[in-house]
Amino acid sequence: MISSTFVRDMFQRYYAEGFPSSLFIPFVDEREFGFISFENQMVRHKNFKSITELKTFMQNFVPLDVYYSCAYYENPTAEMERKNWLGADLIFDIDADHILTRCERVHDKWVCRSCGFSGKGITPEKCPLCGGEKLDAETWPCEVCLSSAKFEAIKLLDVLRDDFGFSRNDVRVFFSGHRGYHIHVECETVKSLDSVARKEIVDYVSGIGLEAPAYLVGRRNSKWRDSSWISPSSSFGWPKRLTEGLRTFLLNVEEDDLRKLGFKINTINAILKNKDALLRSLSSSDVWHTVRGVGLKTLVKLLEHVLDMQSVKIDTVVTTDIHRLIRMPETLNSKTGFKKTEVPIVRIDDFDPFRDAVAFKNGEIEVRVLDAPEFRIGHEVFGPYKDKRVKLPTAAALLLVCRGRAEVVSIV
Ligand SMILES: [Zn+2]
Ligand SMILES: [Zn+2]
Repeated sequence: MISSTFVRDMFQRYYAEGFPSSLFIPFVDEREFGFISFENQMVRHKNFKSITELKTFMQNFVPLDVYYSCAYYENPTAEMERKNWLGADLIFDIDADHILTRCERVHDKWVCRSCGFSGKGITPEKCPLCGGEKLDAETWPCEVCLSSAKFEAIKLLDVLRDDFGFSRNDVRVFFSGHRGYHIHVECETVKSLDSVARKEIVDYVSGIGLEAPAYLVGRRNSKWRDSSWISPSSSFGWPKRLTEGLRTFLLNVEEDDLRKLGFKINTINAILKNKDALLRSLSSSDVWHTVRGVGLKTLVKLLEHVLDMQSVKIDTVVTTDIHRLIRMPETLNSKTGFKKTEVPIVRIDDFDPFRDAVAFKNGEIEVRVLDAPEFRIGHEVFGPYKDKRVKLPTAAALLLVCRGRAEVVSIV
């Protein structure tokens, strides 16, 4: 009980003092807002004329989570059918849950609600023991997972700029406050796109329907043995991405990488031995020459791997849903107590979620930690803890309490 009072007090303080009235949300008065209360009720179809009005509401309501529509409506407070859709931002959601890392086996657990069976790593669709479909996942916003999510965000930014031609002013990047990044494209060009058009954008950035072999069979020399292939124009879009991706891959390639791709030892040796020749061929002209022991099949396999590396891992449903409610910038994420924070695109490499999304910088709380992996807030590293009473800075304590890993003993 004291734990939930603590969270509510902190959230209330944030919406009264921390939340910036200067926040800019384009067309704020045409959007629908939704709030989850501390009693876990969803209150939606709300609308505000200004950020100040919204802030006053949040100060009184004290929401657990705050959402707004990517869509603009004529009547934002009406029922769905009567809202009259005017357009929507183009939203991309990059979540660590959609990216395979090696550490989810270390920090993620799941438990079957029916039989109590549990396991480590990514939550399966069904319980392998009883077949139950209700599984509780216990994930953790870990540094490795979050860096891979940021890496995906950077890839997406490149595609949006280089292939679609969006300017820096059209695109905003946010850390979600938990396990991922949101990319918002807010401009007239995207506003009227329907779901089908948005699905095409999804397919493009995820490389769906793109086949690596198609890039190689452009024109084959009449004699199969004289192995040179004309590559497509590699100056733009996916052809460029694949060519450059293959070059980067070959530059850094080691035996182990090739073994993981399933190549046999002879092929591995041939690739490593002829690496320079292959690289020369890639950069010399539009013609890729194969070399002894590295034939078409091998090149295709390498390109398929590069395609997988270059495609952006997004939650496709979010982008195609033109009515989607998304977490509002600068509000607290109830899963962590961190803020959904804007990431300056020019400094995205330096963005540190465990420093820049921290909402509370003062105070200490004594908690009893049930179980927590090692984690960091700012420069300070905490844990791992197992059934331990410990005094922690507010942000660290809040993270553990929000994750259900700790209970408040006393507020210092
Ligand atoms: Zn079960
Ligand atoms: Zn991780």
